[in-house]
Amino acid sequence: MIRYALVCAKGHSFESWFPNSAAYDKQAKCGLVTCPTCGDSKVEKAIMAPTLSGTKKRSKAAVPVPAAEAPAAEAPAPDAPTPDAAKAPVAMMSPQEREFRTKLKELRDHLTKNADYVGQKFPEEARKMHYGEIDHRSIYGEASPQEAKELHEEGIEFHPLPVLPDERN
Ligand SMILES: [Zn+2]
Repeated sequence: MIRYALVCAKGHSFESWFPNSAAYDKQAKCGLVTCPTCGDSKVEKAIMAPTLSGTKKRSKAAVPVPAAEAPAAEAPAPDAPTPDAAKAPVAMMSPQEREFRTKLKELRDHLTKNADYVGQKFPEEARKMHYGEIDHRSIYGEASPQEAKELHEEGIEFHPLPVLPDERN
């Protein structure tokens, strides 16, 4: 089907559909194409204005189409195997948690700045202080879980140093 914009001898413009251009030529020649307004069969093709509808079409096609969600950007499943075998527990932190973390760091910085580092001798030093063999002072160091348990059983009070997740060494 083809659509023609037509105009009659009196200037009425109208549109009509034809199976093809040859069919229009034939019908127009035989006076079968008539103006719907005045019935005039003296019609001819009007100057088409394809730019109008064409522009419309083009501008419509030019509208940026939102990109489809790219499957490539999909985040890997949480349990997907990672090349890095050593996995650390991780967490998304809220602002409050970040603040808490900062406080933890401050606490640890304060402790480590004002205490003596005794390393592996921590249980020994803690015991000496507890039993009055040496003066009390702030110390920090390392204790195995077993040593920590024993110290607790002896009533020696101490606390694990806060270790920040991203500061493992
Ligand atoms: Zn007419």
